[in-house]
Amino acid sequence: MIYVMHFCRNKKCTNGWIDKDLTDARVNPPDWKYCRECAEKFGIDYDAQTPDINLSKKELQHKNKLRERLKIAREKQKKIKSPETVKIDFMTLTPYPSQTI
Ligand SMILES: [Zn+2]
Repeated sequence: MIYVMHFCRNKKCTNGWIDKDLTDARVNPPDWKYCRECAEKFGIDYDAQTPDINLSKKELQHKNKLRERLKIAREKQKKIKSPETVKIDFMTLTPYPSQTI
């Protein structure tokens, strides 16, 4: 299990702590979780929090969309075994029409 820096989901809260990395966060510190203090304040079970649980419906929809896209992209990658040969169409040269006098 990888541990990363977390920031509280409560924007007004400045608490940060080291917690399990559940979102494969490599660059940005995750902020999907409320800190212990805020969880208590809001009546949330700190240990029961998941990366999805605090999301609004809109955020969840957006996340699911991204997940779906990632899945499709992965499946596409699997299907490509050898690079397809590319056929090049050269422009056909049409003869200049002879002018009649
Ligand atoms: Zn907090």
